[in-house]
Amino acid sequence: METMIHVQRAKELIAQSIKPLEPVSVPLTDATGLVLAEDVFSQYDIPAYPQSSMDGYAFAFEEGKLTYVLDGEMAAGSNHQLALKPGFAVRIFTGAAVPPGADTVLMQEKSTIQEGQLQVNDQHLKKGDNLRQAGSEIQKGAKALSKGHLLNAASIGFLAGMGISSVKVYPKPRVAILVTGNELQLPGKPLEYGQVYDSNSLTLKACLSQLHINVVDIFSCGDDLFQLKSTLEKALKRADLILMTGGVSVGDYDFTIGAFESCGVRKVFHKVRQKPGKPLLLGTRDEKLVFGLPGNPASVLTCFYEYVIPAIGRMMQFPIAIACMQVPLEHDHQKSAGLTHFLKAWYNGQTVSLQKGQESYKLSSYAAANCLAVFPEAETTFSKGQLVDIHLLPQ
Ligand code: AMP
Ligand code: MG
Repeated sequence: METMIHVQRAKELIAQSIKPLEPVSVPLTDATGLVLAEDVFSQYDIPAYPQSSMDGYAFAFEEGKLTYVLDGEMAAGSNHQLALKPGFAVRIFTGAAVPPGADTVLMQEKSTIQEGQLQVNDQHLKKGDNLRQAGSEIQKGAKALSKGHLLNAASIGFLAGMGISSVKVYPKPRVAILVTGNELQLPGKPLEYGQVYDSNSLTLKACLSQLHINVVDIFSCGDDLFQLKSTLEKALKRADLILMTGGVSVGDYDFTIGAFESCGVRKVFHKVRQKPGKPLLLGTRDEKLVFGLPGNPASVLTCFYEYVIPAIGRMMQFPIAIACMQVPLEHDHQKSAGLTHFLKAWYNGQTVSLQKGQESYKLSSYAAANCLAVFPEAETTFSKGQLVDIHLLPQ
């Protein structure tokens, strides 16, 4: 296990510790936002037949010919088998099959009909106009989308348009939350002397719901090694990713490390040179990942944004991370050397200013922040106007 590591090293170790989740087949309707785990090929030419892209008239184009004899009709969905003779035109509507014999569609607005004759009023009409060739979207047997493709709304429609109803994807992780502490009380219940309301489980659930990830379980556990071990064991059975909070330092009532050891969770690192969130702990058991997040509410959030989000992205083979920018600082800032600072901040579109109340137990300043400003480990003095990195918080 590595300890007191740099922020960048912690990110590397997280990346190295994660295996993508086992691909699963899901109905196409449940696949939005997931990544394809295999190439997808089209089983059909799409369009499956030459198709009209206009309401109008279809015929075999003859240069200079301005009148055609009208014969029949093809509406969208019509499976009428019609073969058009030269010199004849068929009434046709958008999406309908252009019958054999026809190669061009004249739009309705550029036509007149007189005594069963079609008059062409379009000097610019060319052979092939207003007609979608069979296979012009995709040909039968061609690769439609590749493994690794993120399924956005257009991808879902594209696959549905080929008749595909299920796809193999990397699933979202099943996540369990495990908050620890003898002092925790549920919101809604009276607060006894010495108790604090458990906010971490709700914060984490909210973070996950912003990523459209459902939480499979929320466990709350006292500061007791035996109880914590059996709860962690339960969570490991049910989830791919476990987010624990509290008890991760070295106090007499901190049992997270002990629970890792008794459950056979391999410690990857403990303690990162950062503020807040210095005691951050990471472990793995087989393909499962366990974060020991600190107990302080602001540390939980910062560690979620900086470490848990990219970890989830890796599990889903989806490169999610919060957006980063470099922007000028609104005012001077001083810090001591030795730790990277992630400070709650407000970006107004031009400059970034730091919030009052950076202590790690305070969420009021976090609630009013829209980014984290990142101050590197070794540096101490930052002046107004200097460019600093900011990480934009998901809204
Ligand atoms: P710990 O890491 O267990 O020493 O906890 C650090 C601080 O975070 C203490 O003030 C705890 O009371 C507080 N804390 C721990 N867990 C939670 C929680 N689930 N919700 C809110 N505060 C918490
Ligand atoms: Mg505690």
